[in-house]
Amino acid sequence: MISTLLQFFAFQGTALIIEIPLMENSEINEAYILWDDNQYELALNEDNALVTMIGIDLDTSAGSYIVPLSYIENENQLELELSLEVGSWTFPTTELTVEPQYVSLSPENLERANRDSQLISEAYSIRSDINAWQNPFMVPLQGVREGSNFGHRRVFNGEPRAPHSGADLASPTGTEIYASNSGQIVLAEDLFFSGQAVFIDHGSGIFTTYLHMSEILVEQGQMVEKGELIGLVGATGRVTGPHLHWGARIGSARVDPFSLVSN
Ligand SMILES: [Zn+2]
Repeated sequence: MISTLLQFFAFQGTALIIEIPLMENSEINEAYILWDDNQYELALNEDNALVTMIGIDLDTSAGSYIVPLSYIENENQLELELSLEVGSWTFPTTELTVEPQYVSLSPENLERANRDSQLISEAYSIRSDINAWQNPFMVPLQGVREGSNFGHRRVFNGEPRAPHSGADLASPTGTEIYASNSGQIVLAEDLFFSGQAVFIDHGSGIFTTYLHMSEILVEQGQMVEKGELIGLVGATGRVTGPHLHWGARIGSARVDPFSLVSN
């Protein structure tokens, strides 16, 4: 039996651990919640609680949501409702007026960028059952505790661009980058905007990304452990200086990767 106040709170653009303590002797299995068109399976942990991690996309409206939880207890299919309050977070917006040639791409570059988007959406559509990750995630650069620019919106000549969906970690070229959790490399490619990029699938629809590397030290398909060296910081792709762009995605939600570290 589930006996708790099923109320949760998270800010826009963050990861949220859903943990539901169970009564002793309860026989619950196959528990799922449905959030933002994604289905999340809950797993039983050693404290007899059902646990999963969901993402609140940075564009999710602030407010109250009902999140359905379905589970099987003693062979009965049951339903419950969780209540989730999404708190508003202010992301900075910068308006820029630039020469049109800096905004529009040449036909070749446009073709490359389109090919890249295809590769990226294929990687993000993977729903493996590897469940390689363990809480918490780690910051991929040694000694770094924060990043900048997550959720930053830029408007070029009155046209809004996709919000900046990762955190930028300033660091010199050649700095070692470590996998922030265990998983499988699902993309290791030179991309037009992102430069030398690595995407890791941690299972349960959770991905982390590492962009603008000077060197990639892993291959697509390879399994990596949390803390394993995966590449070096650089300034490849469309950037103005060396840094690591570190991103996190849960289901279809773009979340601040630092919210996976503090959980
Ligand atoms: Zn960035």
